[in-house]
Amino acid sequence: VFVVFEGGDGAGKSTQVALLSQWLGERGVEHVLTREPGGTALGTRLRELLLHVEDGGPVPRAEALLFAADRAQHAATLVRPALAAGRWVVSDRYIDSSIAYQGGGRDLDTDEVARLSAWATDELVPDLTVLLDVPVAVGAQRRRSAAAPEDRMESESVRFHEQVAQRFRQLAEAAPQRYLVLDATAEPAALSAAVRDRIDALRGA
Ligand code: C5P
Repeated sequence: VFVVFEGGDGAGKSTQVALLSQWLGERGVEHVLTREPGGTALGTRLRELLLHVEDGGPVPRAEALLFAADRAQHAATLVRPALAAGRWVVSDRYIDSSIAYQGGGRDLDTDEVARLSAWATDELVPDLTVLLDVPVAVGAQRRRSAAAPEDRMESESVRFHEQVAQRFRQLAEAAPQRYLVLDATAEPAALSAAVRDRIDALRGA
């Protein structure tokens, strides 16, 4: 089973990934926690390139290709082998982040970005994507208070973040059976309970 958490910056994905992991562990479900960018050794280096860039950073197409390279390596060397071995994979971000950030945020063609990711992963689609939908102002506030050291999003406009959030919502609306959309301003425990309910339903199916 492949579960992905998506959402804007400050949505609380890492908290939810940790809570789900704890719950799976208590149930003896073997699982791997991972993230994009960065789940593999190559991905860690790509993450550094993407998040600590000088001279203005990569142009949008270069950025899209670097995220896609990270994803290709991640899908082929970590996600697919784990799933094949019967383990669950829980990832903090996946394809939708590229569609939302590089497509929605950077104004690249969304269909092209989606095709690039489909090619990069050889069409590996999650069983469930949990979208933590966070109002842009709340996300910004949370990021500021967390003082994230690698926050390259500080310089992005409110419009950028609004476009990202809207694109995430559109993706979820287009495939409701594959998504769980949650209001990320709710309490972490309540959010986690909603995720568990959905996963129980998935396992029962
Ligand atoms: O979620 P995480 O903090 O690991 O993401 C690192 C940064 O990269 C965030 O600021 C996120 O918004 C950005 N990002 C992006 N495009 C993606 C994935 C992440 O701009 N496809």
